[in-house]
Amino acid sequence: MTATTATDPRITEELALNGGAPVRTAPFPSVGESSGRRIGDEEIAAVTEVLRSGKLNSTVGTRTREFEKAFGELYGVDHVVASTSGTSAIHLAVAAVDPNPGDEIITTGLSDAGTVLPILSQNAIPVFADVNPLTGHLDPASVRSKITDRTRAIIAVHLFGVAAPVEELRALADEHDIVLIEDCAQAYLTRTASGRLAGTVGHLGCFSLQQSKHITAGDGGLTITNDAALGRRARLFVDKAWPRDTNERTHLFLGLNYRMTELQAAVAHAQLAKLEGVVGDRQRLAAPLVDVVASLPGLTPAKAEGTAWWLFPIFVDPEAAGGDAFAWGKALQAEGIGASPGYIAHPLYLNAVLAEARTYGTSGYPIAEVADRYAPGLCPETEKLISGGTMMVLPWNENYTEADVADIAAALQKVSRAFTS
Ligand SMILES: *Cc1c(COP(=O)(O)O)cnc(C)c1O
Repeated sequence: MTATTATDPRITEELALNGGAPVRTAPFPSVGESSGRRIGDEEIAAVTEVLRSGKLNSTVGTRTREFEKAFGELYGVDHVVASTSGTSAIHLAVAAVDPNPGDEIITTGLSDAGTVLPILSQNAIPVFADVNPLTGHLDPASVRSKITDRTRAIIAVHLFGVAAPVEELRALADEHDIVLIEDCAQAYLTRTASGRLAGTVGHLGCFSLQQSKHITAGDGGLTITNDAALGRRARLFVDKAWPRDTNERTHLFLGLNYRMTELQAAVAHAQLAKLEGVVGDRQRLAAPLVDVVASLPGLTPAKAEGTAWWLFPIFVDPEAAGGDAFAWGKALQAEGIGASPGYIAHPLYLNAVLAEARTYGTSGYPIAEVADRYAPGLCPETEKLISGGTMMVLPWNENYTEADVADIAAALQKVSRAFTS
């Protein structure tokens, strides 16, 4: 792969968008393929061993329990339950809270749908609070304003690997005797404001092992807690509420089969050994780009402190930056640099499942009465970040070289010069 730099003679000041030479033509390492993943002999050996053992299910093998134990040691938590996906990890957490139908769970519209679908699956009502326009994180003041006597939990998202204000949210949750769930799908080893690991400030933390996360088993999830009762309910829910430790063949409540397989656990455990390296490299590579972005008019990077850099978010002041995130996105893409304005197409509450209450048959249950509130204008700051041109995200990867990062920096500087001159 040939890297280009800002002094490369092929780089002209003419934007590629207007026919100039692009800063970059070679592809970057990507999480969607081996170039951007650290999958090697360790994973192959582990998975082969499981296949040879003939024990592919966690109820007969030991790999899943070993993986949970290792994750618990890394995070310093007592209870870890592995499952099939990040979405199921959050479903376990919501099921552990055990809301009554119609109870409310407050969350954000700026996330993956996996944050909110489990709320509906447990027949609770997602209530959307607005976000801080400079971080995209839940705004504790907005969360406070949404608390009612039906509120049972808050689900905060450590968006892009940057720590959400979970200390404040935990204090708010404690004040109202409700549960704080941390969605850490994008935030392995993220450190919060108080220096703790994201996922250990709230009552429950949830992680994903899907293809694009810091570590992967294709799919997979983890739910962690230090609360024995919540941990017990999550442990039962993942396995049809079957208390195998008592040798009874019985089902104690409504649970599903969300068990991780031994094949997934073997891969995930091998990946876990690489996690600190992955996060460390993402941080080392992000540091110089943070400085470059901070130096450009109208662009603000995320805070570097404690950030695990799942993606590289940039907050845009369209006037000062000479263009909004959509204009920037187009210009960067033409330069050969991936950039997604707004991160998602629309706030979670504008997806048909919520806005049109497409849930169970034609009942609209449990949101039939409130679905008309899932409308544009519900969370203005969230909507501004997604569709108002004030935020874009760049793909990020542990396997970038310093030259790759220099290309990204060169493209940002080039577009900035063109947009602000
Ligand atoms: C990926 C993701 C999920 C869902 O995880 P899956 O493993 O894809 O089900 C949930 N929340 C956030 C913030 C995510 O990024």
